[in-house]
Amino acid sequence: MELQQLVDRIASEVTPGGAVADYIPALARVDPHAFGLAVATLDGEVFGAGRHERPFSIQSISKVFTLALALAENDDVWTRVGREPSGSPFNSLVQLETEQGIPRNPFINAGAVVVTDHLGLGASDRLLEFLRRESGNPGIGVDPEVAESELDHSDRNRALAHFMASYGNMRNPVDVVLREYVRQCSIAMSCTDLAKATLFLARHGVRNDGTRLLGVSAAKRVNAVMLTCGTYDAAGQFAYRVGLPGKSGVGGGIIAVVPGRCAICVWSPALDARGNSVAGVDALDRFTTLTGWSVF
Ligand code: GLN
Repeated sequence: MELQQLVDRIASEVTPGGAVADYIPALARVDPHAFGLAVATLDGEVFGAGRHERPFSIQSISKVFTLALALAENDDVWTRVGREPSGSPFNSLVQLETEQGIPRNPFINAGAVVVTDHLGLGASDRLLEFLRRESGNPGIGVDPEVAESELDHSDRNRALAHFMASYGNMRNPVDVVLREYVRQCSIAMSCTDLAKATLFLARHGVRNDGTRLLGVSAAKRVNAVMLTCGTYDAAGQFAYRVGLPGKSGVGGGIIAVVPGRCAICVWSPALDARGNSVAGVDALDRFTTLTGWSVF
């Protein structure tokens, strides 16, 4: 089946269900039934269906790109954050005390805050620059309404950051890091933009302009951590149903990587109890079933 026919078929078959995230009030205003899907192939072709050109809040999907940018500098970020699945919700505090302020992995909030701290001041601007280049869309920016709403409701993430600071695992002031973290989560992008920006992980670390961001090993490792930790306490279920490295965000987006072939982004804001898009996981499940393109 041609990829265009395939994405059209998936878009016509899935039914959005669940509830939109409302702990960040600005996110609660999106249409829960929206759906978009884009597949970008290694040669740069994009096949889209539904509202694949509509920007949405990327939220935790940003964590993949900040990790990649940190690893592009060196791998000493691994002295500050682990790479084991947490089996706990994305904003959980509980493991931090027994594990002395070292978060389980870079894709839960605590771990992502450490990675942002590692990148330091200007992290969100560097991220924006990277995302604009890879997607070829210079219009990508931070949604100021989401950023303000998230900053006003960041007690939980602030608590995580202060707790890690008490163990000496923060280099910059918590306020500075939180502002960068909230900005990175509040970036708005479409499925098409995100699928293109994810291609370097399908190309074993090589960017769309042919230069290399990550070595082959580092790219493989980012994909491995996405598979084991990218959907939080549902990572086992995601691997079981989809069988691809994937990363979700509470804006309802999920990116997924088929190494050597393509990158996928799906968006549908209604979430399950673990914070993953219901129609998004369903669409990816159908995608790997129909194509046979899983890593297993
Ligand atoms: N910005 C959100 C938060 O920090 C990201 C969470 C997510 O997408 N899972 O709570």
